[in-house]
Amino acid sequence: MNANTLFLRLEGPLQAWGNQESKFVVRRTSEAPTKSGVIGMLCAALGVSRREAPDTWLPRLNSLRVGVRIDRPGVRWWDYHTVGARYGNPTAEGKIKKTAKTGRIETLVTRREYLCDASFLVSLQGDSGLIDQLADALRNPKWTLYLGRKCCPPSRPLLPPLEQRDHPEQPGDFPDLLSALKSVPWRKRLKYDAEPAEGKVDCLLDWVPTNEQPEAPPDALVWYDVPRTFDPPSHDARFVIHTQLRVGPDGEVTIDKRPAQSLTPRPPRPRANYRNAEYRKARAERLDADHHLCVFCKSPATTVQHVTYRRAGGSESQDDLRALCRLCHDAVTMIEYGLGMGLDRIDPCDPDFRDRIIKKRAEIVQFRSLETRRRRLSPEEV
Ligand SMILES: [Zn+2]
Repeated sequence: MNANTLFLRLEGPLQAWGNQESKFVVRRTSEAPTKSGVIGMLCAALGVSRREAPDTWLPRLNSLRVGVRIDRPGVRWWDYHTVGARYGNPTAEGKIKKTAKTGRIETLVTRREYLCDASFLVSLQGDSGLIDQLADALRNPKWTLYLGRKCCPPSRPLLPPLEQRDHPEQPGDFPDLLSALKSVPWRKRLKYDAEPAEGKVDCLLDWVPTNEQPEAPPDALVWYDVPRTFDPPSHDARFVIHTQLRVGPDGEVTIDKRPAQSLTPRPPRPRANYRNAEYRKARAERLDADHHLCVFCKSPATTVQHVTYRRAGGSESQDDLRALCRLCHDAVTMIEYGLGMGLDRIDPCDPDFRDRIIKKRAEIVQFRSLETRRRRLSPEEV
């Protein structure tokens, strides 16, 4: 096949694409994958080490033109990560820093920024021999691939499987980066995901000089992310053009209505066997231990709540049960159904649920008294 364009789908719970501002103690992420991050990933797929890359592969990989479509921008999030533990941080003089008080090797805490739940469509354009070689390497990577930082594994294969020949993200032949990015429909990840804000997606495209346009346009951005060496990391600059594509029925990018993923089904809930002798014993013990009073409102308890159904059917421990009055039990059950809870249910002693249970109880009381009043009224008064 003669393809000049390779598509990569970069999607995962976390991604982090460091730039020149991501050094030392505070390590931020760019809004989109960087050229050095993507090329580093290609080197990992090829099994090319940081040391050998500059002499063997970097000149070829840097010649690739990179376009990114931001299908889901994701949410920014911070975490921390310690460095230097056990090995120590060297000072300018080459000594190992030690804590003044204890004389122990010092550990630094670094702050790290991530993009959560982002999805990027990356297109790489270059000569077809190189594109074929990279597609093979990404399908059978030598080393682990990750989305910018080692703790960020991809949640989907970067390339669609070979058998899915009609998949729009298979390598193809396109006149330029933008037409390649337009050719792939936008897709929801899960069925209830929102469509892009204002019906647009952002795109970031490599700008390369041509005879007609030898100078970069004035609004071009400068990204310092063309890798010169990986060890130590050093970068050259490139120009990046920001543009937007309209998404929708009359947009430049169509929408594929089928969601890309479906939710993992919940584990089946074991049915509580209320006739079981062991359960009846556990239930009676729980009521005794709670003095036959509702643990929530201290009215006389007539029911027992399952905090978890993990051991339901006779193997319940006392911790799995709570004595409740009928009203509190109804309120808790209604909240549980509203939240679609599975095996683990509400613990009425959990202060996080206190306000919700009080509110739901009040709703039930109001509804019931209305019903009672209606029943007492004559038909013409209703
Ligand atoms: Zn109660």
